[in-house]
Amino acid sequence: MYITRRKTRQIKVGKVKIGGDAPISVQSMTTTDTRDVKATVEQICQLEQAGCEIIRVAVPDMEAVAALPKIKAQMTAPLIADIHFDHRLALKAAEVVDCVRINPGNIGAWWKTAEVVKAVNDHGIPIRVGVNGGSLERHLLEKYGYPTAEALAESALNAVHALEDVGFTNMKVSLKASDVHMAVDAYWLFSQQSNYPLHIGITEAGTVQTGAVKSAIGLGWLLSHGIGDTLRVSLAADPVEEVKVGFEILKSLELRHRGINVIACPTCGRVEIDVVRMANELEKRLGHIKTPLNVSVLGCVVNGIGEGKEADIGIAGGEGVGILFKKGKLVSKVPIEELTNRLIEEVELLAKEREAEEANEGSPAAAANGEQGEQRAALTNQQRQQPPSSGREIPVLPNKR
Ligand code: SF4
Repeated sequence: MYITRRKTRQIKVGKVKIGGDAPISVQSMTTTDTRDVKATVEQICQLEQAGCEIIRVAVPDMEAVAALPKIKAQMTAPLIADIHFDHRLALKAAEVVDCVRINPGNIGAWWKTAEVVKAVNDHGIPIRVGVNGGSLERHLLEKYGYPTAEALAESALNAVHALEDVGFTNMKVSLKASDVHMAVDAYWLFSQQSNYPLHIGITEAGTVQTGAVKSAIGLGWLLSHGIGDTLRVSLAADPVEEVKVGFEILKSLELRHRGINVIACPTCGRVEIDVVRMANELEKRLGHIKTPLNVSVLGCVVNGIGEGKEADIGIAGGEGVGILFKKGKLVSKVPIEELTNRLIEEVELLAKEREAEEANEGSPAAAANGEQGEQRAALTNQQRQQPPSSGREIPVLPNKR
């Protein structure tokens, strides 16, 4: 599969570029009470350690706005203020944060949005127009009867056109629904009529398991059709899980290469080692590594080393021993009880070697930042002009302009 990314405008949220040829960034949102600076900063640190590239916090009142400078001073990732209902919160938050998210369905009269535009312009930061199936404008609900993909796309396009009418283009857009079909169709419809960068996500996707599957299907379809410039996986879980799932989706599509990719066999009657425990332990203990490495854990040597040829390094169970291999070649036999620790040591060593090689080649951050993946999915200018083809029947939204 060769992914042709849709050509979008590029904006910047703090230091992170979104859209155009920028790597697809992974973001998340804190679950703490923003007014509790200590707890919020603690969670932000955990998110940053997991690789989260943009972090959003809820700003429900002026007390939360007052906490923003203290939070911002203790983090390195760009900060987005999530604002609903009261545009005055956005006016104040814009003085501190790197981007303001507003929802056209609940921000109220247009003059309020116009004031937000003035504030973000004064501070040179973008807006995320965040349309949501659960909070569409009343006139669209009356027109469509209930939330639909067309209603979401129309809401987003109306907001974009209204912002353009006052000369504002520094924005990204999201059109979220918890229904996978609705969200996918809404993003598709919007992308046919606008080239603003898209923040993609399936909202309220569910628990880690349910939400990861829904998100992988919805975001996977969009990304494989070139749609999406930054993503958030919404899970009813620790937000660090959202970051992990986000990167896994991008890694599976080879759009980003970051950190360890554990390849584990499903096991069968030939299994000689505890593959499930080892694979889980590896993911947990090697989460700090940013260098892209494929690490294989295979239950036996019958197909093990052969199946693990694509891996940079791995282990396979043998009769009473473990086999350590690199690029499909046997390196040594290791007692089973020492296998996990030995593999972890070897992976850490290999990661350091790769980082040193990359530093010598003059592109130290390329792999960790996903440049490799982007190259694989890189486009020619000619390809960028072509709309993605889907073969799906998608409703056509009339152009409102
Ligand atoms: S690697 Fe061995 S244990 Fe794992 S599924 Fe294949 S044959 Fe079974």
